[in-house]
Amino acid sequence: MKHLVIGNGAAGVVAAEMIRKHAPCDSIMLLGNEPGPSYSLSLLPRLVSGDIGESGCHLRSESDHFYRLRIEQRFGRISRIDSKAHKVLMEDGVAFGYDRLLIATGASACIPTIPGIHSPGVHACRTLQDARRIVALARPRAHVVLVGAGLTGCVLMEALAARHVHLAVIEQNERMASNMMPAGAAGMLKRWCESKGVRICTSTRILAIERINQGMAGGPRLVARLSNGECLFADLIVCATGAQPNIGFLRGSGIACTQGILVDASMQTSVPGIYAAGDCAETFDAASGRMVIAGVLPNAVDQACCAALNMIGKSAFQHHVRRIEVLATMGLVTSSFGEWHGLPGGQWVEASDERNYRYLRLEFRKDVLVGANAVGLREQHGMLRDLVQHQVALGEWKDRLLRNPAHISDAYRACVRRHGGANADIADQDIMRSTMQDMMRGQASPETVAAIAYRTISNAARRPPPARFGNPS
Ligand SMILES: Cc1cc2nc3c(=O)[nH]c(=O)nc-3n(C[C@H](O)[C@H](O)[C@H](O)COP(=O)(O)OP(=O)(O)OC[C@H]3O[C@@H](n4cnc5c(N)ncnc54)[C@H](O)[C@@H]3O)c2cc1C
Repeated sequence: MKHLVIGNGAAGVVAAEMIRKHAPCDSIMLLGNEPGPSYSLSLLPRLVSGDIGESGCHLRSESDHFYRLRIEQRFGRISRIDSKAHKVLMEDGVAFGYDRLLIATGASACIPTIPGIHSPGVHACRTLQDARRIVALARPRAHVVLVGAGLTGCVLMEALAARHVHLAVIEQNERMASNMMPAGAAGMLKRWCESKGVRICTSTRILAIERINQGMAGGPRLVARLSNGECLFADLIVCATGAQPNIGFLRGSGIACTQGILVDASMQTSVPGIYAAGDCAETFDAASGRMVIAGVLPNAVDQACCAALNMIGKSAFQHHVRRIEVLATMGLVTSSFGEWHGLPGGQWVEASDERNYRYLRLEFRKDVLVGANAVGLREQHGMLRDLVQHQVALGEWKDRLLRNPAHISDAYRACVRRHGGANADIADQDIMRSTMQDMMRGQASPETVAAIAYRTISNAARRPPPARFGNPS
């Protein structure tokens, strides 16, 4: 069987390795469009901060890794896919045949269409080359404007601040990380960042960029014109304004796409034998009841494993999409779980300690915690996640929590632990989570993550849906 994997980022690499592990005799080709070692996007902020060097971003450290696994690597630009002839055609005229095809081409930066956006000194951070350019211009005391305070923006903010630059963040929404937290938590996050010396302008858009003269280190000097009438001088402007799947080459292939490549729970596209995974794939999320592009590393790995297993004739399904639950911004840890914006007819409670940067919001439907947000409450993350994910019936504890949400740890102990809360599902997911964190820190290989992801997928497939824990009272 001939497997062709397009895209040599996290999803492509994990899928190719997974295929090799389970199909030792199959032929595998991994096709990338950036020559050089495969690297992890999620480690680019650490490269920008100076925490690691370029080799620290590589997905695999041994230069002969793919050779040893008999995974053939090729680089080049694809012109189109002929799905009837089972061929991928390259711009240089070469064609590669396949029996099973995986598209794992990720996404590119979405750049706002404003005058001057393509000036030198304006960069996204979605490739190694972008990160190199940012590092070259973000010298100590340089003036840097970061556009976008979503999840990627928050991660990049910390990385840029570590370079001792003067940093201003422009966010068009009325709050930071608006797709992860409500006004109370986001307001606290904003105050925290400002207390660390970062200027944050919310409800503000960048309207135009002009180049005026030479900036620091011979770089350009830019002026960002803002919707609030201000002009900010900058040696560097970084855009963290979203991403769009790399699917342009699929035109005419017959593969159905909307925003991303539409896949079913086995990661198969509308064309049998062709799969998609990672930031280019759009998949149904049973929890939210919507089609989504996950855009986070754990999903890319889960989906890659799932696609790989199906490509070699095993059966695996991916019904849920993992969201980013925990975010660290300038040292402040925020978290959001489940339906954090609440459900119609539900009840909620909010408590905050403004001075110590602590915040908790709980959202209920009947006696079940359906969503939660926390700021500065690291120890409670696991509890909140378990209560939300496993729809624990809280019984009388719901009213106690509505009176005082600070009793969340007691409620957890009473409702979960007493009922043997560490069931196999929670245990698997905890191992997966901590291994994923290790991988992000460079302490666990993606092979380990892939192996555990596979175990989690296959265990979950064998088990019935998680039961509701009972109420002890
Ligand atoms: C700055 C930043 C920080 C992030 N931080 C986190 C984080 O902390 N936690 C988290 O969970 N997620 C994070 N993410 C998201 C995470 O990195 C992505 O979800 C993950 O990389 C997706 O993997 P992927 O393989 O689908 O795509 P990618 O990693 O983008 O890989 C796609 C690969 O395909 C190649 N390619 C594209 N088009 C073609 C083509 N036509 N032919 C051949 N090859 C092609 C690309 O060059 C690339 O190498 C971050 C992302 C960014 C940008």
